[in-house]
Amino acid sequence: MRWDGQQATDAGALLPLRGLIRSITTPEFAGVTFHEVLCKSALNKVPGGSNMPFTWTINTTRGCLHQCSYCFARKTHEYLDLDSGADFDTQIVVKTNVAEVLAAEVAKPSWRREHVALGTNSDPYMRAEGRYRLMPGVIQALTASRTPFSILTKGPLLRRDLPLISAAAERVDVGIGVSLAFTDPQLQQRVEPGTPTPKARLDLIRAVADAGLQPTVMAMPILPWLTDSTEHLDELFGAIREAGGTWVTAGPLHLRPGAREWFMAWLAREYPALVPKYRALFGRGSYTSTEYREWLSGRVREMRRQHGFVREETQGGARWTLRTDPDAVGDPPAPAALARADPRPAQTALF
Ligand code: SF4
Repeated sequence: MRWDGQQATDAGALLPLRGLIRSITTPEFAGVTFHEVLCKSALNKVPGGSNMPFTWTINTTRGCLHQCSYCFARKTHEYLDLDSGADFDTQIVVKTNVAEVLAAEVAKPSWRREHVALGTNSDPYMRAEGRYRLMPGVIQALTASRTPFSILTKGPLLRRDLPLISAAAERVDVGIGVSLAFTDPQLQQRVEPGTPTPKARLDLIRAVADAGLQPTVMAMPILPWLTDSTEHLDELFGAIREAGGTWVTAGPLHLRPGAREWFMAWLAREYPALVPKYRALFGRGSYTSTEYREWLSGRVREMRRQHGFVREETQGGARWTLRTDPDAVGDPPAPAALARADPRPAQTALF
C-alpha cells in the first residue's frame, strides 16, 4: 500500500517490534509514524481473573490517534519501549495481516466461537483505517466462522462497513457500541483532541440504528466537575436518545498507572484549579471514592429513567455492555438517595 507523499523512516528500527515490515510517515498524518508489522496472532485471550465480560479481544492496531487524555490503554505502549503519553498518540503499530491471521485462527476446529471484543485497547475505526482497510476482513472472518463479536468505537468510519456488519448480524450476535461521554465540542477538543466531534458520533449512532442494529453508548469516563452535572448528563442522554441509542453505560474516570500521570499533567495544564480536587477524590488509587461512585450511579439511573432507556435483556448487541454496567444488578434507587446532598468536596466557582 502506498500513501500520498509517504516516506520510509527508521523510527521503528530500535523498537522491539516483532514482524516489522517498515515504518512510514505521511503528510496526511503530520507527526505520526505508522509501524507496519506482520502479526503472528490476531486473537488475544483476556487474562483469567479479569472482570471483562468477554474472553477474547482483537486490536488491529496499537496506540491510538484519538489521543484521549484519560485513555487507560496507554500503559500497553510501554511494552514496546514507547511511552504511554505522546508515543501512544503518534507511534501507531498496524497489524497489516490481521485479517488473514484471524481467518486461520477461527477456522481451527479447536476455536469455540466465544465472544470477541474489538476496540478495547485502540480504536479500530480511527482515521487511518480508511487507508488500511483492516476491519472488513476481520468482520468477514468472524462472520464466516460464526463468531459473535462487538465493536466499540468513536469513529464514524464504521459507517463504511455497515452493510457488512448488518449482514453479519443476520448470522451471529453483533454489538455496536459508540463511545461518547459528553456533547460539548469545545470540551471534546480539550479532552480527546484526536476524536471525531460529538455530532459526528451522534450521526454514527443514528446511522447504526437506521441500519437496523441496536447501537449502545459507552459514556465513559464521566469526568468529575467537568461532565457530571445534571445539565451535562441531561443533554448527553437526551442527544443519545434522539439519535437512536438503545442503552447508555456510564461510569466515572479511572486513573490507572500510565493513564494517571498523563491525565493529571493534562489536568494541570487545562484545569489547574481542579488538581487538588482530583487528588482528594482519587487519593493515591486509581478509582474515585465509593461515595462518589454511588452518587454518580444514582444520577445515571435517574437519567436513564428520565430519557426512557429500558434494559432489554435479550438484546444480543447490548449484552456485553450491560454486563459491564455497574448498575446492571440491584434495586432501583430510592428517591431519597437521588435527593441527597452532593458528597464531593465543595466546588469552587470555576464553572
Ligand atoms: S479512542 Fe479509546 S483507545 Fe483510542 S485513545 Fe480514546 S480511549 Fe484510548
